[in-house]
Amino acid sequence: MDLRTVMLMLAVGSFLYGLLLVIFKFKTNSFQEVPFWITAKNLQAAGSLLLYFRTSAYDGFTMLANTFLLLGCAYEACAIRILSGYNMKRRLHVIASIGVILACLITVFLDSPYRAGLIFLLQSVFYFLPSVYLFGKSDMEFSLKLLLAACYFAAGLIFLVSSIICLAFPVYALKLNGSPIFGLIPGVSFCIFLVSGFILLMLAKERSDKQIQEIKKSLKKSEIRFQQIIETAIEGILIFDEQYKITFANKNMASVLGYTIDEMIGRSYVSFFPESQIDVYNYQKSLRKKGEGSVYECCLLRKDGYKHWFLVSAKPILDDSGNFEGSFAMLTDINDRKEMELLLEDSNRRLRELSNTDSLTGIANRRCFDAVLEREYSRLRRSKSELSIILFDIDHFKEYNDYYGHVTGDDCLRQIGGVLASSIIRAVDLAARYGGEEFACILPDTDIHSAVKVAERIQQRIKELKIEHKKSAVSEFVTASFGITTVRYSPEITPPDIIAAADKLLYKAKVSGRNLIKFAEYAEAQGIDCV
Ligand code: GH3
Ligand code: MG
Ligand code: MG
Repeated sequence: MDLRTVMLMLAVGSFLYGLLLVIFKFKTNSFQEVPFWITAKNLQAAGSLLLYFRTSAYDGFTMLANTFLLLGCAYEACAIRILSGYNMKRRLHVIASIGVILACLITVFLDSPYRAGLIFLLQSVFYFLPSVYLFGKSDMEFSLKLLLAACYFAAGLIFLVSSIICLAFPVYALKLNGSPIFGLIPGVSFCIFLVSGFILLMLAKERSDKQIQEIKKSLKKSEIRFQQIIETAIEGILIFDEQYKITFANKNMASVLGYTIDEMIGRSYVSFFPESQIDVYNYQKSLRKKGEGSVYECCLLRKDGYKHWFLVSAKPILDDSGNFEGSFAMLTDINDRKEMELLLEDSNRRLRELSNTDSLTGIANRRCFDAVLEREYSRLRRSKSELSIILFDIDHFKEYNDYYGHVTGDDCLRQIGGVLASSIIRAVDLAARYGGEEFACILPDTDIHSAVKVAERIQQRIKELKIEHKKSAVSEFVTASFGITTVRYSPEITPPDIIAAADKLLYKAKVSGRNLIKFAEYAEAQGIDCV
């Protein structure tokens, strides 16, 4: 066969083979073994094509063709090495490539038979290597492996014999040049190329099939393991899809909520949340959509309608591009602990309320009054506003008690307390029993005139109660006397000073005849004589 024709056929064949490998790569996604292979085939194709166009003289063009061909053979050896299950260090193929390029450069300075001898020798090495790799470790089907190794071995042998003839018997080699025996080399190479290419593809397919099977097997194994972990977990496990519908629930989760697994699958997560917890659901959902995981407490509704508390550890499930695909949640039963906590919280709150409430009238007690006055007065320092205090005291209550008895006295105090509480409209105001038959109001941000209006309202309502008081010197019904003062913040004034000022005005109301309202700004009240 004509050498140039063979070269052209090799070039076309190698290009087609390279193309096949590219298709193979995209179909199987096998990253490691194919890249070397594609490179090998393309280099071989380029080398063959250059040889097809070569002139008879050995010039740079021919040297480049030989370099391509040899590099192609070296890369094919690398591909077979990986296909046989060996590792391929990057350094190794770089060194081999540099070696090939240097050897080809040297051929420029050699005479024709030696030059051919060196190239044939290298080529034989690159053909022998794959047969060694294939026999060394490969776990592929024996008959295919044997056939392929035999092909490479035969090719290696042909090139080795040729190189020995060229190097050991240069004169004889020169005589043989152009004879049909040397013409055999490319012919045999082409046949080997066809056979080995076909077998190689079959081997690669077999290998990737095997890998897929192994992946499937290990996937099944880990799936079974995952299932076992989930089934034995004490925690409840839920998996949701993008719409927050349950796609998986373990036995434990279903039984805590009183459902069967089938009843839970397909239900939306939000349907398990009581009305009071919807905000928690929405917030957690927004976190998951942002790709964030979290640990939170929430209560879910059981099938019987009761609430059950869980500590939830949740993570989003994202696809390869980071888009939200659903979420995974592990729920720990904290119902007993949470119920205890809530009970404790509730009793603490009640205790707090009790310690601030007057037990007879149900309104705030003196302790609460003092605390609120302290707080409001220090707030006044920043607000630069004014604060009014009303103190009032039931007139001739001793006589009332003595005449009507203590129980009726208590009842009277209760009614006055009720009147006071209902006369305070703003949430910031405070009505309190100051002690005995004395009551008090704290009115933040209130000037003296508005405070007087509140006192008049209280006085009017006490009057409307029409609680009979036969022993009163003021009226036939129960009445009270009021002292009101208004203050702005000053470092010289303390809360007890404010109370003392209001008390002074209350005293003034008493001595002035009772059932009266006496008021004055704090500074003005200081000038009032108590005696
Ligand atoms: P004035 O008009 O000057 O205020 O005379 P008063 O009798 O109202 O004042 P005084 O301080 O002399 O008497 C207050 C009485 O209030 C004495 C006490 O019997 C009565 N008192 C104080 N706390 C209670 C209580 O919790 N229940 C009852 N029923 N009476 C109480
Ligand atoms: Mg009193
Ligand atoms: Mg009194």
